[in-house]
Amino acid sequence: MLMKLNVRSTQRTQMIDITERVRMAVEKSGVKSGYCTIFVPHTTAAVTINEAADPDVCVDFINEINKVIPFEDGYRHIEGNSAAHIKSSIVGVSERVIIEGGKLLLGRWQGIFFCEFDGPRTREVILKIEKDQ
Ligand code: ZN
Repeated sequence: MLMKLNVRSTQRTQMIDITERVRMAVEKSGVKSGYCTIFVPHTTAAVTINEAADPDVCVDFINEINKVIPFEDGYRHIEGNSAAHIKSSIVGVSERVIIEGGKLLLGRWQGIFFCEFDGPRTREVILKIEKDQ
């Protein structure tokens, strides 16, 4: 089953918790045992799994990634968003989560985050929900 989520970012760099939306999609699929692939079809965004309990984890992540890969650093890419392209590749555009008992097998503190690196924009997240063979 293929599903799409629209995600609207409001900041230049932002992590948006999409865990509940992915959970709902898995529920709707009816798959009890299998996998959910979360794929971001963009070159300046990403997806990651990290702590969802304390929102300061995301604040720290954003502050640090913006220090490691600054917005301006003599980049050649004419569009002016090289930092976002680099962050997208470093963080990655897909995650795969096991589905067991009809639920995402995430750790207690884990959440799934859409990562915006060149916002604000409206983005798409593709979910592929598959049953075990
Ligand atoms: Zn670009």
